[in-house]
Amino acid sequence: MNRVSPAIIILGQNSLPIARKISAIFPGSQIYGLRDRTSGVDINFTNFGETLRELFAAETPIIAICAAGIIIRTLAPILSDKRAEPPVLAVAEDGSAVVPLLGGLHGVNDLARKIAAALEVQPAITTTGDIRFRTALLSPPPGYYLANPDDAKTFISNLLAGEKVRLEGKASWLTESNLPLAQPSERIDPDAKLTIRVTDKAVLPTPDCLVYHPKNATFALTQLSQIESETAVSYVQQILENADLAAGAVAGFFALKSDMGHPVIEAIGKYFQVPVRFLNLPELVEFDSAKLIEYNACFEVTAAQIALTAAGANSELIGYDRTNAFSCAIALATEPIDATAIGVSRGKLAIVGTGPGGAQWMSPEVKQILREATDWVGYKFYLDLAGSLREGQQRHDSDNREELDRACFALDLAASGKSVAVVSSGDPGIFAMAAAVFEAMDSDGKPEWQGIEIRVAPGISAMQAAAAAAGAPLGHDFCVISLSDILKPWEVIEGRISAAAIADFAIAFYNPASKQRQWQLARAIEILLQHRDAETPVILGRNLGRPGESVRVCQLGEFQATDADMRTVVIVGSSQTRIVPRKYGGDWVYTPRRYEG
Ligand code: SAH
Repeated sequence: MNRVSPAIIILGQNSLPIARKISAIFPGSQIYGLRDRTSGVDINFTNFGETLRELFAAETPIIAICAAGIIIRTLAPILSDKRAEPPVLAVAEDGSAVVPLLGGLHGVNDLARKIAAALEVQPAITTTGDIRFRTALLSPPPGYYLANPDDAKTFISNLLAGEKVRLEGKASWLTESNLPLAQPSERIDPDAKLTIRVTDKAVLPTPDCLVYHPKNATFALTQLSQIESETAVSYVQQILENADLAAGAVAGFFALKSDMGHPVIEAIGKYFQVPVRFLNLPELVEFDSAKLIEYNACFEVTAAQIALTAAGANSELIGYDRTNAFSCAIALATEPIDATAIGVSRGKLAIVGTGPGGAQWMSPEVKQILREATDWVGYKFYLDLAGSLREGQQRHDSDNREELDRACFALDLAASGKSVAVVSSGDPGIFAMAAAVFEAMDSDGKPEWQGIEIRVAPGISAMQAAAAAAGAPLGHDFCVISLSDILKPWEVIEGRISAAAIADFAIAFYNPASKQRQWQLARAIEILLQHRDAETPVILGRNLGRPGESVRVCQLGEFQATDADMRTVVIVGSSQTRIVPRKYGGDWVYTPRRYEG
């Protein structure tokens, strides 16, 4: 079953009531509405095809309230891997039909049943096995892992043809299904050649035997050393084999918080595709060290404590070892475990740039990070532009000036296991939060920040938006100068303006003015006029991509400092920058690729 909250997509306002009804049964779901055709939705989009394909590629369950045919045509070109397909469903605008289309391996039929129940209709389930047996053998519930999905198709066909199946092992979702289980008295019935085995052991599956591993085992790692990831993975495989445990029965890998981010743990988690979780020393259960003797003392007590803590009450130690990569211990719980509910995951900090305006200038990567983050941190105005939160996400507004404090706050939050998105407008690395985060780490970095997974996701910067609106003024060498003298002395800024003017760069000015800062831009114009013609084109881009957007082209000689404010980016052309009049009014501005000195 897919854990990501679904995206509910609508193309017109008429679909909103049904979308809301569906949204109410999926906490965390978001309603995506076509711009200009819908209002009151969570996220606006302009391009249906692109949006659908992006969500699909990110493995987000999709519930589209539109004709099934549109969805099929949109997704058909990118269908390739059945196992990576998220659930995709079409729902009729009046709620009269719920049609599961894709994602059979990720619980699409269960979703269809849930939605249909809320809409009080019958779901259009066409998967024979599902209808007949009231369970999807191919997509077991959370906590179970099917070891041989490739055998399942024929297996299910045989069941549908009337064969009976023997159940070995325990799993209530199987006993409560409508599967044609052979009764205990029939267990030795030679007709029942099909078997379903529920076991944590690494048994060899066959076409006549589906093997499900309950995720009962916790694998703890301590005393890690730097070693090739393949070697570490092969140690784990060997240890699992020694413990007679299937890799599919491992619910998660567990370690101490101080080992967060260790490459060996990262590699193991990635290889086995199970959660990696971290615990604090004080939260661990006691472990009687006298037992060390019983176990030949060839493991570390902390590893045993971690494995037993994660596996919970009544769990028992079933494996332990010490290699030159790590010490480890394995514990077995009595029931499948949801590892994501134990300890914390490795903290993540993504510093993202949302572009200058709204969603249309936000990269798919940034949209995904924002969707998946647990916490958004940023200046209130930027967070508003980033869109609305889904349920369960926390928003931390801050003052625009306290950049370092905000960086430390975000790092602390990530170190506690959260997935934090620090939001900047434009590009996060251009006069924005990315540098502040690295500065915080560089100046008084706390040891716990070391384990955080940090990434910077770029965005379109204001100068690019302004340049695009005007034509191509940055087509040749250019430089970028912030006119804010809060973080650097004015003499330095003046020196740079002169140097850039002499070097004949086109110049993009950020932070040209604010309510408190007016004279700096006037002085900048004065310096520029010492080196450039009064006819040099100037572009003033204000609120680009946002409500109240304006783009104005004027000449350096007529440009007044009062024409710009803190929402404006100013581009001053080089000696080569030219103006091309547009036929029906206005101008294009461009700087040729070739330089004629
Ligand atoms: N990281 C941002 C810049 C932040 S500095 C980026 O890459 O765009 C803030 C300055 O950026 C503002 O004073 C203004 O000069 C410029 N700016 C940011 N967004 C803008 C927008 N939408 N329209 C015009 N200028 C913008």
